Amino acid sequence: MTMFDLRERVAFVTGGNGGIGLGMAKGLAAAGASIVIAGRNKEKAQSALSALRSIGTQAEFVDLDVLKETSCRQAIERAVARFGRLDILVNNAGTTVRKPPEELTAQDWHLVMDTNLTGAFLCSQAAHPHMLRAGGGKIINIGSMMSVFASSYAAPYSASKGGIVQLAKSMAVAWAKDNIQVNAILPGWIDTELTQKARDQVQGLHEKVLARTPAQRWGAPDDFAGIAVFLASPASNFITGAAIAVDGGYSAQA
Ligand code: NDP
Repeated sequence: MTMFDLRERVAFVTGGNGGIGLGMAKGLAAAGASIVIAGRNKEKAQSALSALRSIGTQAEFVDLDVLKETSCRQAIERAVARFGRLDILVNNAGTTVRKPPEELTAQDWHLVMDTNLTGAFLCSQAAHPHMLRAGGGKIINIGSMMSVFASSYAAPYSASKGGIVQLAKSMAVAWAKDNIQVNAILPGWIDTELTQKARDQVQGLHEKVLARTPAQRWGAPDDFAGIAVFLASPASNFITGAAIAVDGGYSAQA
């Protein structure tokens, strides 16, 4: 199991206090990594910490607002101060504003772009010197089916999720010399708070997703545990700049 062994490794997961982020954090914890979950909602973080600690790993929460550059830098520094190193960064924090392009305000645009894309850049930049010191690292950016496809109600979301794949490739190329691998995961439709909102707003969405997904089910946060371990572990050391769909076949079907 050495190939997937994350003991002695420290992982920082933005938005790791719930949803897909927590699903990935649980996988990393089960493989032995110490976990820092970073976000804004402390209540959600408490139950996430209990879940992670019950796996038998060390886990801490740090305050993080990815909309603020200082917060990104301070949260990474706090994680390193607590655990002494940083090996794995998961850029998972994300949000959306569902409106057609003609109704979006500049504020809507910046909220989504800055949360989903700029935040990932700022956290990666803050993590880079610590990964250099550790002799390498792994960065996992969370994209979406909207990295590839489009929808009428998700212009800034799609732009940010297309961008996060290009950001992963750019950092992969720049930091290969530093033994830092950077990849993206593209989730299909996953049952979380984010998509619960969409289901409440869009009639028939639940059935449409089932019909369009060859696996005939919504994904669950725990479906991301395995891919997180793979992309964070030595098993993926020659994989960098890749975008891997975890979507029950959604993107394979015409
Ligand atoms: P959730 O709403 O459950 O999780 C989003 C997370 O992002 C929350 O934990 C939230 O933390 C965090 N977050 C949002 N804004 C900020 C901020 N400004 N600073 C710090 N943290 C922030 O949704 P999902 O688990 O579904 O989403 C996780 C990722 O997966 C997102 O990037 C999303 O775009 C992506 N994704 C999801 C899909 C799905 O079907 N669910 C499909 C494709 C991609 P807090 O509550 O503390 O603010």
